[in-house]
Amino acid sequence: MSARLREETPSETRSSPLWRDQLSSAEWLVTETSLAPLTANTYETLLTVGNGHIGTRGTLEEGRRGELSGTYLAGVYDGHDAAVIDLVNAPDWLAFAVTVAGVRLDTQTCTVVAHERALDLRHGILWRRTVFEDSAGRRTSLESLRMTSMADRHLCGLRVAVTPEDHDATVVVHSALDGHRRNLDRLPVYPPGTVVDSEVRWEKWARSRHLRHLSSSAGGETISLQMQTIGTAITLASSSATSSSLTPDRSATECGYESVAHRAEYTVAARQTLVVDKLVSIVSSRVTADPAGRADRTLAVARAAGFDSCLRDTRAAWEELWADCDCRVDGDAAATHALRFGVYQLLIAANPDDPTVNIGAKSLTGEGYRGHVFWDTEVLMLPFFIYTQPATAVSLLRYRHHTLPGARQLAADSGVRGARYPWESADTGREECPMFTNDGLHRFWTRDEEIHVSADVAYGVLTYVTATRDHRFLLDHGAEILFETSRFWVDRTELDQATGRCSIKQVMGPDEFHSHVDDNAFTNQLARWSLTASAEVYDDLAERYPDELALIAAALRLEPHEVTRWRSVADALTYRPDPLQPVIEQFAGYFDLADVPITSWDDNDMPRYPEGYHHFNCEDTMLLKQPDVVMLLHMLPDDFDHDTKKANFEFYEARTLHKSSLSPAIHAIMGIEVGDATRAVQYFRRSAFVDLDDNQGNTAEGVHIASAGGTWQILVNGFAGFRVKNHQMTFNPWLPPEWEAIHFRLQWRGNSVDISISHTQATFTLHGPGGTTEDILVAGQPTSLTAEKPLSVDLS
Ligand code: BGC
Repeated sequence: MSARLREETPSETRSSPLWRDQLSSAEWLVTETSLAPLTANTYETLLTVGNGHIGTRGTLEEGRRGELSGTYLAGVYDGHDAAVIDLVNAPDWLAFAVTVAGVRLDTQTCTVVAHERALDLRHGILWRRTVFEDSAGRRTSLESLRMTSMADRHLCGLRVAVTPEDHDATVVVHSALDGHRRNLDRLPVYPPGTVVDSEVRWEKWARSRHLRHLSSSAGGETISLQMQTIGTAITLASSSATSSSLTPDRSATECGYESVAHRAEYTVAARQTLVVDKLVSIVSSRVTADPAGRADRTLAVARAAGFDSCLRDTRAAWEELWADCDCRVDGDAAATHALRFGVYQLLIAANPDDPTVNIGAKSLTGEGYRGHVFWDTEVLMLPFFIYTQPATAVSLLRYRHHTLPGARQLAADSGVRGARYPWESADTGREECPMFTNDGLHRFWTRDEEIHVSADVAYGVLTYVTATRDHRFLLDHGAEILFETSRFWVDRTELDQATGRCSIKQVMGPDEFHSHVDDNAFTNQLARWSLTASAEVYDDLAERYPDELALIAAALRLEPHEVTRWRSVADALTYRPDPLQPVIEQFAGYFDLADVPITSWDDNDMPRYPEGYHHFNCEDTMLLKQPDVVMLLHMLPDDFDHDTKKANFEFYEARTLHKSSLSPAIHAIMGIEVGDATRAVQYFRRSAFVDLDDNQGNTAEGVHIASAGGTWQILVNGFAGFRVKNHQMTFNPWLPPEWEAIHFRLQWRGNSVDISISHTQATFTLHGPGGTTEDILVAGQPTSLTAEKPLSVDLS
């Protein structure tokens, strides 16, 4: 059965929207203009509101058959009743049902005659208006504003306006906190091609229960619910209160098992509007020992201030964020829109105030990858935070410090010293990647072999420190990560006594089509680089902060001879056995594999698997899932000359299938860098619109947050050609012919720089204390910036 939909334009309805004109202009909005069952789950993802602590999918307040609803709290994981630890589908704070003249306003019970939603990216607010018609022909409009506050990360709010358009009515409002939540576990294995009706699609999944009920309570207009994760014993306390523009005829609270609700009944005249404000505070025992008390206090403060004030506060917080993060493309409004959408997603994914959490592969927008954290953070997303929100970057890196005990344990379990970061990380730093695919047919070797993640984490630490000169972070957290991962690399390499060369065997590089390979160039070179860089950090700290280094070394029982060994292992590590061969072999033996050509491309002009091939059988071919050597060139651009980059880009691009959303961005950047921008715009679009166009077909399960980071990198590292060389900012711009100019801001060592680039000119404005100067390099020309004095460089 599908929802009964009869679309009419909003002008055909009799009342007009109350709050639509409070939204930002169109280039800041993501809009949904109809309720189509086939795209509804995708919009639920796209219209997620969040603040880095809480993410709430854009489901309808009253619920809908076939919905995929969820609120996720960063760091709240649980492994009870599931094969793999999950980011818990937390109690639903949104639940809000309206009954008019005895008829529930929802898509099953009524006909939808008009529907529009708009997510205001600039202010983090989701607006909605739906006009329902019941079987007697009575129309009622329902309008709402939804926020998860950026000003107080424990606060959420919903404002609902109910207007019976052509009839006097008894309106009943049912506002709840619902703790009866389940995570999706797995779909039964169906024969290929099976189509499951979108309305029952999720009902087919096995589900995991992670929450048990602790208490429900109610007093006056306030309702409270406490649930607890079963395996990890995290208490989740929520408190909510409603207030309304009309006095209810009667009201009551309902305390139930796993839920609590407030119910109020009103008499509303035709064309009169009832406005109900619902404020909710959500606090977990991860933040305080008394989550219920803290939730009550947060709610009391918000209620005293009032809904409008909470709305103003979150809007102001968002505007401050955008001042540093906005990106614009003159001449391409769709590109600006997509960039802003990606930045919005990044901003709602991370929390500068919580150094114990990180960003899962679907952030807080869905259950894909079960909320696990990958190398995606350090390689794809961290650059955005380093150069726009450095405090958030610190927080993300401190998560890796927080999870060091787990990483040490993982190293010990594999018989080596130091710290080995897991391929999939959750709350402890232990490995959380499942052993097998859901159907049990294929083994995930990523968990055993994608050990490059330890070097990626070190890379994140050092990129941050170079951009900020934050030595405090290095001393308090970063150095320990570098030193412990160096120990891991030393033990994980094998010395060939005959040649004196070191190897890293039995690994998988970023290209997941090839497992159990030896001497993967990416892994070896990143390991070499991080060993050398860690030894340099050690020497530098020894000179500048000898006492503090002594304390770190004592805590780690680190001896200077170990540091000498880091250098010697780095020197002996092979990553390019034949330096005369311009194309770097991806791993030992790669060149002997079958060179299967790519001959077919999809509607997005992206390669299809050659006939007979799929994810699990490309092992014997040269086909790549995603960049491997090309990723190395991107991450360590100074280690390779232009000709090497060009030769490798051309060779590997022809063999890459881009079966990861991480792939197009890196190809766009490297294509521009080597002067082959033929496909750069196409890669940009693929990356920027991955979710807005659902071009991978799985946005319903959550956004591709790494792609959002990659898209930002295409703008900044690709089109603006920003790189850090010799500790200096350098720019080498190239713009697509159809673009007029790009604009963005970067943070650099405590100051910020506004950057505008057109085809003929690049303008830089350094903001910082009077007299501050910064030497940069633009298209090869040395240039000196002085604070508050815009400087233009001719590019023509
Ligand atoms: C990619 C990995 C990535 C993971 C999570 C996989 O498909 O191959 O590189 O880390 O998705 O985004």
